[in-house]
Amino acid sequence: MTATGVVHLKKGKERKVRNFYPWIQRGECRAEGVEDGALAQLVDHEGKFLAWGHYNAKSRFHFRVLSTANEPIDEAFFHRRFREALARREGLIEGTDSLRIVHGEADGLPGLIVDRYDRWLVVQVRSLGMEGMKALWLPALMAATGAEGAYERSEMAGREEEGLGPQAGLLAGAVPPEVTMHEDGLKFLVPLHTGLKTGFYLDQRNTRRALAARIRPGQKVFDGFCYTGSFALHAARAGATVYGIDINRDAIEVARRNAAVNGLEAVFVEANAFEYLTTDALGPYDWIVLDPPAIAKTESKRDSLKWAIWRLVHEALPLLKPGGRIVVCNCSYQLNLNETIEVCRLAASDRARPIYLEGVTLQDLDHPALAQFPESLYLKCVWLRG
Ligand code: SAH
Repeated sequence: MTATGVVHLKKGKERKVRNFYPWIQRGECRAEGVEDGALAQLVDHEGKFLAWGHYNAKSRFHFRVLSTANEPIDEAFFHRRFREALARREGLIEGTDSLRIVHGEADGLPGLIVDRYDRWLVVQVRSLGMEGMKALWLPALMAATGAEGAYERSEMAGREEEGLGPQAGLLAGAVPPEVTMHEDGLKFLVPLHTGLKTGFYLDQRNTRRALAARIRPGQKVFDGFCYTGSFALHAARAGATVYGIDINRDAIEVARRNAAVNGLEAVFVEANAFEYLTTDALGPYDWIVLDPPAIAKTESKRDSLKWAIWRLVHEALPLLKPGGRIVVCNCSYQLNLNETIEVCRLAASDRARPIYLEGVTLQDLDHPALAQFPESLYLKCVWLRG
């Protein structure tokens, strides 16, 4: 593929690029005659090469860095990147056959997400540039992973800004609608064609494990946004009595099937967690897990997210046994860890209850957080004792 143009970076901004930050925002660069989605060369104010990457004037992120080396961006380049991403994860996480193998920018592949469930891949394409390069990276991905098939689930709202609509379907090989993945001896059915995101929340693996390790037999657990039951079933296997709530009927059905295939007891209810918490008659609980969806995808939604977390903690506290724990998860980059803790603190103060911070867990290690790229740290789970 040949470059269609040159993107000029404003003086002073080259430090960002040298410091591994992969996005050039609107207003930080200037381009002439570069098509949206095209591969382009980023140069400094003296015209010196800085990086290869994708340009898109429609997006807030005008330029996304693919490589700071002056090298051909071809199938071999993508093959190397995939090999590196796989090597980075070797021996990193045991006890599962499913991993995020490509985490976008943090793996040097801006706009591309790949989750591997056993022998199958689920892919999300988040940028116009990556969309345009499918013919280069897809064969490289299949060759590097040896997967039996790849399915695309690019339905996230962020694509609109890129000038892309939602897209889902088979990309390569064959992919069954549902596969069974394994985690710590538990089986989970993953609806690859119809589930949320790529089908399963691999990013919460370490938090599930931390919960399972702390549960004592006979404890009572409430999982407020349970999806297909991953937290609930880890807790059930540890000997807890669990109640999982989710607004999505399909998720609840899969959660029930997941309980059955593991021979575990769990109650799964289709309901709105916000309402359910105010009328709950099954508590009090030893553990309340709250893992709501990403409410704040943009800066303007920060207040809605704060309000949602405040409300959840506020409603959960009266349902907590003395000394019980709440795990509050926030998967929006827009609200950082300290702000999340602050909202929990305010909710507890409004209930006139002390609350202790017992720990924090982040997205699991197969979703690398690049320190120089703060946006790559999105998931924070705050562990509270009431
Ligand atoms: N903890 C889960 C992932 C949760 S994702 C896991 O690790 O697998 C967020 C979930 O919240 C989704 O399943 C979605 O269906 C559900 N949800 C969204 N709004 C809800 C609401 N108001 N009440 C209950 N569930 C809701």
